[in-house]
Amino acid sequence: MRFHKAETAFFFFIALISSAALATFYAWSLIDHPDMVDMSGLAGTIASLQVLLLVTAVLLAGTVAFGLFFILPLIRTQLKEGGKLREMTASLSARSRNLEQAALTDGLTGMQNRRYFDDALKEYLGEFRRIGKPVGLMILDLDHFKQVNDTYGHDVGDEVLRSVAACLKSMTRYHDVVARLGGEEFAIVAPNMDLALLQRLAERMRKAIAALEIKGGSAQLSVTSSVGLALWDQEETAEEFYRRADKQLYEAKRQGRNRVCA
Ligand code: GH3
Ligand code: MG
Ligand code: MG
Repeated sequence: MRFHKAETAFFFFIALISSAALATFYAWSLIDHPDMVDMSGLAGTIASLQVLLLVTAVLLAGTVAFGLFFILPLIRTQLKEGGKLREMTASLSARSRNLEQAALTDGLTGMQNRRYFDDALKEYLGEFRRIGKPVGLMILDLDHFKQVNDTYGHDVGDEVLRSVAACLKSMTRYHDVVARLGGEEFAIVAPNMDLALLQRLAERMRKAIAALEIKGGSAQLSVTSSVGLALWDQEETAEEFYRRADKQLYEAKRQGRNRVCA
């Protein structure tokens, strides 16, 4: 069995105190049984007591010195190391939280990304299957966005994406999931809404996006969007549900864009 430095120090400390206690006990028994003391040997007994007291005093002084110069610094070092370790653990877990956050966030718009959306949709469906409440899904794609980039440049295109993201976020509720799926495509999971409410919300979003005025150099520009909408049938998987909303988006594009299809 291997002992840690602190454990060895502790046993040594105990051994010193026990030795002092033994010497004291022996001295005590000499005083407590004077009958054992031969009067002629009284001087010898006193001499023994003096030696025992001296031994006790040396042992106690040794114990104090050992405690002060060895155990106390050892405790201090360990406390310092423990503190450092705690700091390191805290900073590591903060880093891993940040990384996790970054892995689920879209860098350009600061909204949730595709990965988050996929997980969240599955989770919502699982939860809402249990309580039997509706879940709506909108997929929104900007119209002719390539032209925006080609005409005004990629930076202005990025600014449009940020403005649309902020607009969508401002129009959704706390428990809605709003994500950028990639490129100029966004998705909104809106639980607890019937189809009529969903359609109204999608229409309001489409109009709000069309009303955005974004600076493109010296000019102002605006964009329109097409929205595909589906209400979960309580049976289909997340993939099937997503495909159905995506088909509606395709239909909105086919019908001429800047509209909602459900
Ligand atoms: P449609 O109406 O059919 O959707 O046409 P569209 O031009 O919007 O669609 P298309 O898929 O042809 O083009 C999408 C464009 O989005 C192409 C790409 O350059 C641009 N894009 C994708 N990601 C980004 C981005 O992060 N920033 C910018 N500025 N543009 C992006
Ligand atoms: Mg597009
Ligand atoms: Mg697209």
